[in-house]
Amino acid sequence: MTDQSQIDALREKAIAPQKLLIDGQFSDSASGQRDEVISPLNGMVLTTTAAGTKEDTERAISAARRAFDDKRWRGMPPAARKRIMLKWADLIEAEALDLAVLGVRNNGTEIGMALRAEPGSAAATLRFYAEAIDKIYGEIAPTSDDVMGLIHREPIGVVAAIIPWNFPLMIGAWKLGPAIAAGNSVVLKPSETASLTLIRMAELAHEAGLPPGVLNVVTGEGKIVGEALSHSMEVDVIVFTGSGGTGRRLLQASATSNMKRCYLELGGKSANVVFADAKNLAEAAAVSAAGIFRNSGQVCVAGSRLLVERSIHDEFVAELAKAAAAMRVGDPLDMNTQAGAINNEVQLSQNLSFVETAQAEGGTLRHGGNRILQDTGGFYMEPTIITGVKEQDTVAQKEVFGPVLAVTAFEDEDDAIRLANSTDFGLAGGVWTSDLSRAHRMVREMQTGVVHVNTYGGPDVTVPMGGMKQSGNGHDKSLHAFDKFLDLKTAWIKL
Ligand code: NAD
Repeated sequence: MTDQSQIDALREKAIAPQKLLIDGQFSDSASGQRDEVISPLNGMVLTTTAAGTKEDTERAISAARRAFDDKRWRGMPPAARKRIMLKWADLIEAEALDLAVLGVRNNGTEIGMALRAEPGSAAATLRFYAEAIDKIYGEIAPTSDDVMGLIHREPIGVVAAIIPWNFPLMIGAWKLGPAIAAGNSVVLKPSETASLTLIRMAELAHEAGLPPGVLNVVTGEGKIVGEALSHSMEVDVIVFTGSGGTGRRLLQASATSNMKRCYLELGGKSANVVFADAKNLAEAAAVSAAGIFRNSGQVCVAGSRLLVERSIHDEFVAELAKAAAAMRVGDPLDMNTQAGAINNEVQLSQNLSFVETAQAEGGTLRHGGNRILQDTGGFYMEPTIITGVKEQDTVAQKEVFGPVLAVTAFEDEDDAIRLANSTDFGLAGGVWTSDLSRAHRMVREMQTGVVHVNTYGGPDVTVPMGGMKQSGNGHDKSLHAFDKFLDLKTAWIKL
């Protein structure tokens, strides 16, 4: 069990200036430039990272290509690869607390959530895919007597993994686990505002025995490093988690370069639907509040639209407001905190302007709406509830990626389905009902990659995660994630 004094001991630990990791070696960027890393806890400079250039990115891609071509990793016996990946997971777990605190200082997530969702879940994810390494086989097709159809499964080549700020280790592991287990080489590009734990995670991979060049890390700006990756003729696959705007740029770059495969995990505007027949409204309200306000709403699957049956609307909103008011927002390194900081100041001001727009369009500010704890120098915002939101309002259609809940009343099941499906997104959703048939109908009708029933959040690595509509394509997690990193090849053999 972690206690507060262990966390406090790591609070101020000095963080060395960070370098790029290319071909197993740490180096500065070609330009010698550095980027400041600002802590969302207090607005202070935490450390600096190397500002990767196009040239650095190309050097990393070449290293990854060499590692793939000379088979130093994919040619290793499966049992040996599995041992290395399992050791990697053990090393992450051994410094889980350090990694969790480092990550919180970098991205602002509350420590309780970081301890659950970051190093621990990254280690579990790596183990899941490591265990599969010696269980991935090709197939033999049922053919006639004189021919045999063999289906091979082969790693594809160089994978670029581009990661957002909210859960860098967990989302990083969702990409790195299956990509590396399948035998590919990777160039990893962390978010500008949350790179520190991923750099350390990659260093631990080398300590565990991953050969040089199989996992390279280039920090720097999206419009420099990310663009160099997406326009490269040598990158075979891009796996991306982030915003829709960046996803669109990646698809365009693919079309004008080598038509590399692009797998996108994008934003959401997930509907959490509460029917009057839900069994325990107090519990539904508490879980729904956590479903939008944990990590201060910086969760892609956050239940950011609450659709509530009109007959219980007022009662339910009152419960929600109670839960929001009771939520402890603040110092993310305090174990009692339930919602930490907003990752960066730009995001905080965007969140606040969504609240203004929502009111200007006719919504009622029922709770919160303000920046708080400004004297800390950090970026904090109250859990915010806006009621009377109409289907086409900005706050019902656009992802905020902050602690802002849009509430809309519905009349009946058909109305709920229509509203739930009324955005361009389709990432997640929730249904609260005690009617089993209704629950199954809603799961069928909601156009979204995940539907939670009588709960919100929690799925682990065993189940796929991916969006419908403009929330993306392809799936992270589960054995299905291998589909992005293994090609099929047919051998048709005359006997
Ligand atoms: P973002 O798109 O701004 O950045 C994501 C990554 O893309 C960063 O590493 C960034 O440097 C890089 N990038 C930026 N411009 C680029 C370009 N032109 N070319 C290539 N790369 C570029 O997203 P963000 O603000 O870091 O993250 C928030 C978004 O991520 C939200 O929309 C959220 O919903 C989404 N998200 C989705 C999931 C999911 O699984 N679907 C999970 C977490 C977050």
